[in-house]
Amino acid sequence: MEEMWLTDEEIFELTEQFGTPLYVYDEKTLRKRCQELHNLLPNKNFRVSYSAKANSNVEFLKIVKDEDIDVDAMSPGEIYTQQLAGFPKERIFFIPNNVSSEEMKYAIDRGILVSVDSLSQMKMYGQLNPGGKVAVRCNPSTGTGHHEKVVTAGKKTKFGIQTKYVDDVKKIAAEYKLNIVGINQHLGSLFLTPEPYVAGAKELLDIAKQFPGLKFIDFGGGFGMPYKENEGRLDLKKLSAELDKLFTEFLADYDNKNVIFQAEPGRYIAAECGILLGTVHTIKDNYDTEYVGTDLGFNVLKRPVMYDSYHSIHVAKKDTKAKDNTKHTYNIVGNICESGDIIAKQRELPHIDENDIIAVRDAGAYGFAMSSNYNCRLRPAEVLKELSGAFRLIRRRETFEDLVECYVLDTEQKNKKRA
Ligand SMILES: *Cc1c(COP(=O)(O)O)cnc(C)c1O
Repeated sequence: MEEMWLTDEEIFELTEQFGTPLYVYDEKTLRKRCQELHNLLPNKNFRVSYSAKANSNVEFLKIVKDEDIDVDAMSPGEIYTQQLAGFPKERIFFIPNNVSSEEMKYAIDRGILVSVDSLSQMKMYGQLNPGGKVAVRCNPSTGTGHHEKVVTAGKKTKFGIQTKYVDDVKKIAAEYKLNIVGINQHLGSLFLTPEPYVAGAKELLDIAKQFPGLKFIDFGGGFGMPYKENEGRLDLKKLSAELDKLFTEFLADYDNKNVIFQAEPGRYIAAECGILLGTVHTIKDNYDTEYVGTDLGFNVLKRPVMYDSYHSIHVAKKDTKAKDNTKHTYNIVGNICESGDIIAKQRELPHIDENDIIAVRDAGAYGFAMSSNYNCRLRPAEVLKELSGAFRLIRRRETFEDLVECYVLDTEQKNKKRA
């Protein structure tokens, strides 16, 4: 596990100034992760496209763009946000599933390349943009992932087009004069050894042989990072060597020697540069379980509840003189009215007091992006630790007015809202 990039002193400064819950991101870590992947295959025509659903903050996207990394969009809203961040149309790749023709047209009208995820969506695309360029999302027979909810290829997912339909794909392309410029896949999320990714890449390259003249082949994301204290890092050197070998073999018999090999990581780029800060409001014992009650409900960080995910916890002690060196086993819980609202289960941690700050590590990916207003809670603010070490607000905390912004209010209610 990497060292904390926030000191306790900084944690208290930040929580004093911006309150909690608070997401803090580290520009240095973000740039480092971008560079590692950008340089993964220096001897090949290789591009990285950041899967922005992991973290779509506009300032975050600007940094990624500055590191010469492209971007994947899953929805028109993501395209909108990415264009706002300054990504030109050539650097956005739209990989939706089950979209309406209006949503597909939104990308086509902006000259953004679309990946189709089924024969039915491919026909829709052909009708909307005959003669256009398109990418096809394949579904090889195996997937991977840290939880069944994030396995995105194989026999049990909704994604992609099965290999047995390659002839149908070609028929539809011919019917609408579509130019298939790329094929893509995404096996699933969070591999920590190269094997599953390399095996998946091999399968996709076999499919690619049936599509001469491709401009790119996109192997998807899923690059993992260690959430647990005792986990090792993904061996990028080994991954690089194995992919390089595979790509060299492929190029030997492929017609387009300039084909771009592409990856689309989300978590690897975003996770470790995010820390979520929350305040301890309550300590209690309930039938022999020690609970630490915080403002970190699952409206703020959903991963532990959604996937049983583990996030390492750091405790910043408000009063360091209150010396109680005993270790405790705590359940760290939030303020949402559901018993499943547990951010960390049965954790052995130093003695915790009210007003201590809980720092939830590796919260930069699928953290804020999955936050909600459940229980009419406000989404937190987001702060960036710049390279200089200065902190800058990049999204303000929501207000009660934000909560009712979309309701259709009568005059009396509108006056109350302003009051
Ligand atoms: C979510 C997603 C990714 C990124 O997954 P990570 O595990 O965050 O790297 C890549 N491609 C597609 C199509 C996705 O849906």
